[in-house]
Amino acid sequence: MPVDAKPETLDVVVVGAGFSGLYLLHWLRKDGFAVHVIEAGDDVGGTWYWNRYPGARCDIMSLDYSMSFDPQLQQEWHWPERYSAQPDILVYARHIAERFDLRRDISFGVKVTAATFDEGSDRWTVEGDDGRRWNARHVIMATGCLSVPRIPDVPGLEDFRGDWYHTGDWPHEGVDFTGKKVAVIGTGSSGIQSIPVIAQQAAELTVFQRTPNFSVPAWNGPMDPAFEAEHKAHYDELREVTRWSAGGYLVEDNNDPARHLPREEIEAELERRWQQGGFSLLGAYGDIMTDLEINAIVVDFVHGKIREKVKDPAVAELLCPKDHPFGTKRLCVDTGYYETYNRDNVSLVDIRKAPIETITPTGIRTAQAEHDFDVIVFATGFDAMTGAILNVDFKGRQGASLREKWAHGPRSYLGLMVSGFPNLFTVTGPQSPSVLANVITAIEQHVEWICDCINHMRDRQLSHIEARKDAEDKWVDHVIALGDATLYPQANSWYMGANIPGKPRVFMPYVGGCGTYRKVCDQVAAENYRGFELAS
Ligand code: NAP
Repeated sequence: MPVDAKPETLDVVVVGAGFSGLYLLHWLRKDGFAVHVIEAGDDVGGTWYWNRYPGARCDIMSLDYSMSFDPQLQQEWHWPERYSAQPDILVYARHIAERFDLRRDISFGVKVTAATFDEGSDRWTVEGDDGRRWNARHVIMATGCLSVPRIPDVPGLEDFRGDWYHTGDWPHEGVDFTGKKVAVIGTGSSGIQSIPVIAQQAAELTVFQRTPNFSVPAWNGPMDPAFEAEHKAHYDELREVTRWSAGGYLVEDNNDPARHLPREEIEAELERRWQQGGFSLLGAYGDIMTDLEINAIVVDFVHGKIREKVKDPAVAELLCPKDHPFGTKRLCVDTGYYETYNRDNVSLVDIRKAPIETITPTGIRTAQAEHDFDVIVFATGFDAMTGAILNVDFKGRQGASLREKWAHGPRSYLGLMVSGFPNLFTVTGPQSPSVLANVITAIEQHVEWICDCINHMRDRQLSHIEARKDAEDKWVDHVIALGDATLYPQANSWYMGANIPGKPRVFMPYVGGCGTYRKVCDQVAAENYRGFELAS
């Protein structure tokens, strides 16, 4: 379509067809809005469309890590495993698209490049990289928090003669590692999930680790039919519990401090929770994330587990995280990660000691040695939380640029809207619980709040909603103060923007918990959208 052709006129443009975008489309269309979703990929699924690396699976029990909005869907859907693998989650996303007939309102294979607000009409013009344009009252960014993969700036990659991949942009046809010499760079969740699976196939696997991470076992397995039946018999009540919980998932949370308990008692509780697996360990005591001495007990406990599992003591020491408190980087959940280092075909390189200097045509050269590889896997993470939003060149009121506004870190009111950018919503945006929660719970809460708000505006014939600057400033200060009261800022994590050289170092998620946050959002709406300007 020529660029000067008239843009399509809509009520709402949604960017992204992951779970957020699908649910937004379903809800808004049902309410009679003209809505269109623009998706960069060729299919629905978002994170689960792109992250197809071997071993990719959810870290929260599937009965919990799933949409709750349709009682019939949640009763009918069967998850084959406790923590479902990426292909099963993608099948689920596709099923939602079919079941609710969503595809006809989605444009696939189009990237949104720019969006400009017109104050005269209170409408956005959205531009796609295929030259198409859409004119809409509202724009909703449903682009996910971990959707812009990041390849580090290592020289020489263009000359590498083998194959290379990023876990977050994995080839759809899969990768056969049989007989290959493989390098994995990065030991975050994606590395920790993929390394055990790649090790089983590759001839040799070398892991390049800069910072070791804490990982707890998933104890994944096939879905137990009795457990599934029992869960489904109480699904609605259980969903309600998750909605008002801190993490947005079912876990045995204990808010009591461990400070005055005997160490043996604390360790026994940690052991019990280790046997439960997943994020249970984080919820053992209320002061794990605020009291460095209590946190150190958990650190020692996990170090003990690593030393038990890894036979070579030198390798075990390298795998023990010592530079950040437990839980201050996203906790990893694994299946056989540490045990993988007992295999004869797996070796670990400490690139903190001997940094990668260059990628050569045949492999990787560190400060200490040269290694030859057929394949390099980058498990090096994402431009988290702000990357996908800032990939769009937003121009708000008076031509203000969002990239300029966020140059020193993201600023939003409730992680939902940004002052100066009316009628623009962000699902699971920075300064909301998003990445610290079961993201599906966080998505549903945001989508429902946003849709209620858009309905509220239509009912009152309002054309403009904007976060007030004072409300935004207060919220950002509150989010930072909550973060500062915890140990989170002590880690160089992507929560802090620390994984990207030059990115502002600001703690981005709201750490006050899903339930508390939900209450705040509900109160704001009930008080006629306190902190927002609404106008016709
Ligand atoms: P990540 O946690 O950011 O880990 C990236 C890894 O790459 C880190 O070990 C990092 O080391 C390393 N790295 C980055 N730049 C490097 C460089 N220049 N040289 C050497 N090493 C470098 O990324 P991720 O593993 O993709 O996970 C991101 C997030 O996605 C997770 O925290 C989680 O929230 C989500 N995720 C979830 C699941 C799930 O739920 N199942 C699965 C995968 C991912 P440093 O630590 O030293 O920076």
